[in-house]
Parts: sequence; structure tokens; C-alpha cells
Amino acid sequence: MSETQELPETLRYNDWAQAVTEGRLLGQECADCGNVEGTPKGACSACGSRALDTVELPTTGEVYTETTIQVPPVQFETRGYQVVVVEVGEARVMGRVEDGGVAIGDEVTLSGYVDTDDDHPGPVFEPT
Ligand SMILES: [Zn+2]
Repeated sequence: MSETQELPETLRYNDWAQAVTEGRLLGQECADCGNVEGTPKGACSACGSRALDTVELPTTGEVYTETTIQVPPVQFETRGYQVVVVEVGEARVMGRVEDGGVAIGDEVTLSGYVDTDDDHPGPVFEPT
């Protein structure tokens, strides 16, 4: 993980997605109210400001909420997986936990990404 990479001034989806494939999480911090977003937004969800600065988010966080997606035991996938919302710093990021098994409050770390349609990589976390 490099601290020297430049962060885009305006975080766009492609920048965010590219970072995920490199094992990094980018977010946006509102210059007006300090709210931190875990995914690119056009405006702050808290105050509506468009003055959003790109920030590097931690890749370890705490499970805020989780749900298990049950995949029918047909075709290729035979196990369910968990979708989690992880609090990384002050932001929340949605991701997946392969094999499931984490609970709210557990610490997880970004371990990779899943890209089901070759166009929308999403973070994958594992228990720390
Ligand atoms: Zn704001």
C-alpha cells in the first residue's frame, strides 16, 4: 500500500473501482460538514454540499450490518455469501464476505474484490 499515490480531486466511480482492484478504499470527505462517504457521490448525503475532497479510507473496519445471500445449490455456486456494511473510519462501505460467518461488531479487512460482470468490482472482506 503506497501513501504516495495521488488522489483524484473529484472522486468518480471509475477511480473508486480502480482503487478497489488495487486493494484500496477511497471515499469523500465533505469540506463543509465533515461527513465521510464510502462511495463516490455528487453531493454530501448529510448537507448537500458539493465540496467533497477525496480521502483514503482504512481497509480494516467493523461490521455495521450484515445479511446472508442464500445461493441455491445449483450450477456453480453452492454456498451462500454475506453482504456486509463495514465502518471504515467514519465511512461505511458495502462489500461481500466469502463463506460468510461474520457478525455485527466483528473486525474485517479488505482482502480482495469480486467483479461479477467485469465492470463493477466490489470489495471483499475477511475476518481480521
Ligand atoms: Zn456535508
